[in-house]
Amino acid sequence: MIAANVASFDIEEHHRIEAAVGLTVPADLKADYAARMETCTRRLLDQLAAANARATFYVVGEIARTHPKLVADIATAGHEVGSHSWDHRRVHRFDPAGFRADLRSSKDALEQAAGAPVVGFRAPTFSVMKETGWAIDVLAECGFEYDSSIFPVRHDRYGVPDAPRGPFLAVGREREILELPPLTYRALGLNLPVAGGGYFRLFPLFMMRAGLRQAARATPPRVGMLYFHPWEFDPTQPRLPLKRLARWRTYVGVGRTTARLGALLKGFTFRRAVDVARDLRASGAALPRFTLV
Ligand SMILES: [Zn+2]
Repeated sequence: MIAANVASFDIEEHHRIEAAVGLTVPADLKADYAARMETCTRRLLDQLAAANARATFYVVGEIARTHPKLVADIATAGHEVGSHSWDHRRVHRFDPAGFRADLRSSKDALEQAAGAPVVGFRAPTFSVMKETGWAIDVLAECGFEYDSSIFPVRHDRYGVPDAPRGPFLAVGREREILELPPLTYRALGLNLPVAGGGYFRLFPLFMMRAGLRQAARATPPRVGMLYFHPWEFDPTQPRLPLKRLARWRTYVGVGRTTARLGALLKGFTFRRAVDVARDLRASGAALPRFTLV
């Protein structure tokens, strides 16, 4: 099996984050966050181009309506455009029919804007979990080739702690889909979620690097799937009125992320998730199967 790393970016305006659900955000602040989302995403495109790296962008479907040129430019630059749902609601908020409609709107809008098929999915807040395992069937029905939403960790908001840490076939009720789980680092008997968040912004970067090296050394090798958000690269953005812990978690380290991403792009090679998924399938490697429902 192949060793590969993926830099993925979940493209959403800052006020869509899970910690802000239930907050009333004034329209002018939403407009500011939308403008900042575009500026930061374009800076990321420049940084990736300078490093000659290709990445995967899971984009909120509504952004294909509000910023079609941005989505087109991501695709033209050679990156993969995947879906990050229509409007960033967690899978828990849907029944299968509602989720199907959400996926179809998002896929259609993104394909029109990108001018390319959309075959990869990342659920908001990694919300494909045991209780939402039916989502696997819907993703496969809607023509997605792979998913990257099952985080094999124990966490207060998400996670399937006993899911495989490398690529696997996620099995739903009747169908299955190739899963590329976000990177974990095994230490002290725990799967640490080193793929992004605090492990990118707060802790020393060597933990994320150690995770990437551990994944490459594993037999068979795992995929070094990392995730980032444009708002994590925007130290001057206005802060949302979050509670203390959520505020700290959200904004810690946002001033050092551009340099850190630069160091990662220098030290490791990254590929698009869709290419990794297709190579895995073409290799004929027997992947573990993991039943969610
Ligand atoms: Zn998101």
